[in-house]
Amino acid sequence: MDLHLNGKVALVIAASKGLGKATAWQFAREGARVAISARSELINQAAAEITSQTGQEVLAMRADVTQPADIERVIDTTVEKFGGLDILVTNAGGPPAGTFDDTDITTWEAAVNLTLLSTVRLIKYALPHLRQSTAPAILTITSNSTKQPVKNLVLSNSIRLAVIGLTKTLSQELGKEQIRVNSILPGWTYTERVEELINARIAKSGETKEAEITSINTAIPLGRMGKPEEFANVAVFLCSPAASFVNGVMLQVDGGLNAGTF
Ligand code: NAP
Repeated sequence: MDLHLNGKVALVIAASKGLGKATAWQFAREGARVAISARSELINQAAAEITSQTGQEVLAMRADVTQPADIERVIDTTVEKFGGLDILVTNAGGPPAGTFDDTDITTWEAAVNLTLLSTVRLIKYALPHLRQSTAPAILTITSNSTKQPVKNLVLSNSIRLAVIGLTKTLSQELGKEQIRVNSILPGWTYTERVEELINARIAKSGETKEAEITSINTAIPLGRMGKPEEFANVAVFLCSPAASFVNGVMLQVDGGLNAGTF
């Protein structure tokens, strides 16, 4: 199937590794012009790897999504470089692990800024450019924690629901302009974030890493965690013109972990 992404401009935030990097890679494979951002120098390495594997030029920017000026610069630089913007994928590192008792108010405020306000700001700055596109799409990366709270993740379990509310609202408000807004709710997908979460669990449970991984795998109907490229395939399809009638979908990519009817 042709996803009709050739020449489209896709900006993927927080893409130096993990789900963001895999998604940027897949966009480039499909012929999109890709811009990526993250805080560390690793972002340049990610861009070089994607270019060497796909032949596509990738714009890499160092930027922190907790800083409004960085967000504005990322959007402006992408538009200056490629002459427009068709697709925005919002993403950030996950908020810190912990229970309600572990988490002080300052940490809550920082997590709201990282997870919710970064998404709001990215979409605010990107919208005027998306409005000029012939095939605009926004994808928010959230979490399966919005369906079923995940142990030791009070911040993700709580704040990501606001991102879901935002995504659904925008899918309704922007639909008449043919701007599609969807979210993917990833389940356990093996990335550095998952390594961090497993280490945080081990610190509390005293279990071995193998025992923690087995307990996670056992709960997933497919019996394993996902791979970043399995996430990316779905993300790139949802953002592509091939999914032109898919809007307001909160899509679980979790191996069947959350089996609720809603
Ligand atoms: P990851 O492997 O830890 O990668 C996180 C990416 O975010 C990196 O590129 C990191 O680069 C960037 N980043 C972190 N903080 C940032 C900031 N303040 N500004 C800009 N970039 C920032 O995580 P992942 O597994 O790909 O997960 C991506 C998102 O999906 C996270 O929010 C995660 O919680 C969520 N999620 C993941 C899973 C999973 O199983 N993997 C499941 C559910 C939800 P720098 O450090 O260089 O900035």
